[in-house]
Amino acid sequence: MSGLDIPEVLNTQFACTQCHANAGWVRTARPTMRQNSSIHRLQCAQCGARIVAKASRGRTADSDDCAELREEYETLRVLQPAFAGCARYGTLEPLGFLAIANHGVMITGLFPGEELERHARKQTATGVYATFRSAGVWLRKLHGAGADGDVRQGLEVGKRIDYLKATYGSAFAADRKLRSACELFVRVGRDADTLAIGGVRIHGDFKPGNMLCSATRYVGLDIQRATTGAAVYDLAPFVNHLWLANLGGIGARARRRHELAETAFLAGFGDAIDMRTLRWAQLYFSLCYWGAYRQRGALDAVIAHWKMLPLVEKTAAQLRALT
Ligand SMILES: [Zn+2]
Repeated sequence: MSGLDIPEVLNTQFACTQCHANAGWVRTARPTMRQNSSIHRLQCAQCGARIVAKASRGRTADSDDCAELREEYETLRVLQPAFAGCARYGTLEPLGFLAIANHGVMITGLFPGEELERHARKQTATGVYATFRSAGVWLRKLHGAGADGDVRQGLEVGKRIDYLKATYGSAFAADRKLRSACELFVRVGRDADTLAIGGVRIHGDFKPGNMLCSATRYVGLDIQRATTGAAVYDLAPFVNHLWLANLGGIGARARRRHELAETAFLAGFGDAIDMRTLRWAQLYFSLCYWGAYRQRGALDAVIAHWKMLPLVEKTAAQLRALT
């Protein structure tokens, strides 16, 4: 728990932005717990306005969730002009930020949408295409927001190789398939490192679970924009998670839906995407996922084997086919 009584806090410190009522906030659902925060849904008893309050877990010696939440709030504010007046694409609407003792509380408007994967499962092929194309358009719009000029920083291949080797090198070395995937990653990376690639502000955690959609609107969540880098560092995790997700059906039908979603997403993003670079970045993230699960304990090692190893093998095969 956040340790805060959120309705009580809002009723004393946050008036409704729509009708200016004080002390009218009532919960509409039980809070949801996340790793670093808790999520609270409330409604104004006077005008019916619906809001979401995200409360940090507090400040401890080794983490400052409150500062991170404030960053997230400021990022939302900075992004508002880029999405202003756009009916189809947007972010959560930032309404206020409260700092109370060790906690931060970010207040946003409620967006009545559902996660992309869940939405897509109910769609026909045409609907799947439209859904994921829109996710690509949304990301392109985010990358174009408040562009800081063209930062030619390339893929920072050396940094990625060093990280993988230092963090998971010994685990990779013990497994023939992982060793071979890692060698491919290093070899292709060294080749691609000469490409001059424009940097953009990276979302930082872009995946289907971080996009909500309703019938007419798409809203991205958990936008970090903490670093600049090549756009593939947002495209690759999304495409990987798309593969890990089940968009409905089994066997050939599931495969077709997945391929359609990936094609649509990349078409929506629209920029000429160098597929070799994309598959390379996908291999990077899939090796990271495998390593992270492998290190966490027996149960997660099973996930590494059954879920992440097939992703490593698939992305490695796709990359090999392009070299
Ligand atoms: Zn109100």
